[in-house]
Amino acid sequence: MPVNTNQYHSIISQLNPQKVQLIAVSKTKPNEDIIELYDLGQRAFGENYVQELVDKAASLPKDIQWHFIGHLQSNKVKYIAPFVHLIHGVDSEKLLQEINKQAIKQNRIIDCLLQVHIATEETKFGFDADSIDEFIQSGRLAQYPNIQIKGLMGMASFSEDTNLLTKEFTTLKQIFDQAAIQLGNQFTILSMGMSGDYPLAISLGSNMVRIGSLLFGARNYSK
Ligand SMILES: *Cc1c(COP(=O)(O)O)cnc(C)c1O
Repeated sequence: MPVNTNQYHSIISQLNPQKVQLIAVSKTKPNEDIIELYDLGQRAFGENYVQELVDKAASLPKDIQWHFIGHLQSNKVKYIAPFVHLIHGVDSEKLLQEINKQAIKQNRIIDCLLQVHIATEETKFGFDADSIDEFIQSGRLAQYPNIQIKGLMGMASFSEDTNLLTKEFTTLKQIFDQAAIQLGNQFTILSMGMSGDYPLAISLGSNMVRIGSLLFGARNYSK
């Protein structure tokens, strides 16, 4: 399926006036599709799988900003640590420890978002609301000097129920506002909203959306 460039222009024209950043989610999609959006000016792309990301980053233009948005296993951090722009799905202190360790090895500060579990579904990863609050208040983040926590990320339920989604996004925005008091100036990113729910997410305070299928077409995992 070809890249939907009309959709791209339409999304960008909705997002720009609201200062919302688009992450084009290119997982499972070929390099040609990424280049098509790159040629239109898109630089931020999101990937979920470490090996796929490493392969793409090696062969695509070096000024692409790669966002890791999937579930990251500690033993794979080392592969993306040299170049990743932002890790969205940080969901445990064990993972923070490992990212910090690899960031030190690379002599970099790695930007991260903490993932908060907001969906009622059980399958989604993340800190729950109470534990993230406790963690941020505890000051333990100071143990990870090579990590900069830039904000929060969340995924709403896979549902068409607007009331439910509104409730979940609102919860995340409240946690974000609370954490911002503690974490200060660098804490600015609220990554929420995907193809199916991004207008609602933006209306409830998102400033970074992760959009895949609207741009690149439905994904085919079977090949
Ligand atoms: C795949 C994925 C997206 C994009 O989903 P679409 O519905 O195709 O826009 C966004 N965020 C995360 C974490 C994803 O895994």
